[in-house]
Amino acid sequence: MRSSASSFLFPVYSRAPLCFERGIGCSLFTPDGDLYLDFSSGVAVNALGHAHPRLVDALQRQAEKLWHVSNLYIVPEQELLARRLCELSFADRVFFCNSGTEAVELSIKAARRYHYYNGDESRNRIITLEGAFHGRTLGALAATGQEEYLEGFEPRIGGFDQVPFGDLHALESVISERTAGVLIEPVQGEGGVRTMPAGYLRSVRKLCDRYGILLLLDEVQTGIGRTGRFFGYEETGAIPDILAAAKGLGGGFPIGACLATEAVGVAMQSGTHGSTFGGNPLAMAVADEVVDIISAPGFLERVRAASSRLRIEVELLVSMYPRVFDRVSGTGLLIGLRCVPPVHRVIETLHEHKLLCVPAGNNVLRLLPPLTISDAEIDEAVLRLSRAARSLSAVTSM
Ligand SMILES: *Cc1c(COP(=O)(O)O)cnc(C)c1O
Repeated sequence: MRSSASSFLFPVYSRAPLCFERGIGCSLFTPDGDLYLDFSSGVAVNALGHAHPRLVDALQRQAEKLWHVSNLYIVPEQELLARRLCELSFADRVFFCNSGTEAVELSIKAARRYHYYNGDESRNRIITLEGAFHGRTLGALAATGQEEYLEGFEPRIGGFDQVPFGDLHALESVISERTAGVLIEPVQGEGGVRTMPAGYLRSVRKLCDRYGILLLLDEVQTGIGRTGRFFGYEETGAIPDILAAAKGLGGGFPIGACLATEAVGVAMQSGTHGSTFGGNPLAMAVADEVVDIISAPGFLERVRAASSRLRIEVELLVSMYPRVFDRVSGTGLLIGLRCVPPVHRVIETLHEHKLLCVPAGNNVLRLLPPLTISDAEIDEAVLRLSRAARSLSAVTSM
């Protein structure tokens, strides 16, 4: 019998008492017609905002042609999108799946398989960082390695060594002849919008080369323009061997992708992996349009300009409301504001001011506007943030 009569769903989410009926760009409307400014973008998913006309059109056109045929047959849309992603990145090969955690799972499998294929099957351990988040399936969960996510789900999948964030010596000291690779998010999103120390990823890349191991980047959150570059690694000077993408890639349509070099790709021979839904023509049509828009000349320059504006304005908020916000972090349009009061209280207050943001670890408020955000919308969001901060600091000063 159900313990709660109110819902037929697994009670895994603590949801805000909000519901939306439609959206356009950065705006979301409740059934009553209330307008909210969306600085959550469905947790970095709606990269081009809601109901982008070109995405709606791409989906509708494909929906009239073909929804699904399976990977028993050639899917030309997969070839097109894979070529495009390779031309825009380090990669030579792509596998399409349906979510971030699947992209991470395959990244781990591909790293193990690469060493197996090259005659060194004892190299099967992956190094990860404290504070990481790689997803909820058993392998990605073991890579995440945080007790709060693992509790009650033991035994955990083996083969992971976790080291402190940003500590290069700690990382080097766990590399052994059993190590297959290192898995890192260029910015820890869920972990609290933590950027890696300057030069860290480049040094990890050098260690990987020295020890003959692979660099795996989890760009599920940082990829597809979120950092102001197509992929976050571009700014770090650390070119990966394997990269997991998802969230923004479909602009709201479920899709994930694992990108890899030729050396890794060839190790994934026929029969070694698969997905029923992965590479579905609907997902391909929408993602192809997303990539087309984000890689067009000028688009990422605009993201970087929007980022600078937002960054300057929130830095000002920190100096004006030190009892509410105490630090800014992040890059591009993945900005963190560490809160003094509990972040959930800040988010509830923001809801009163009709602004949607996302919580992250370490009591951080995450700002994830669509990449298409206008200057006027940035200013409006910051105004709402400052109003919320004013009412919160009035309360906390008492
Ligand atoms: C969201 C996220 C995932 C998991 O993606 P899902 O689509 O929820 O499975 C993995 N890694 C990172 C860095 C993420 O932000």
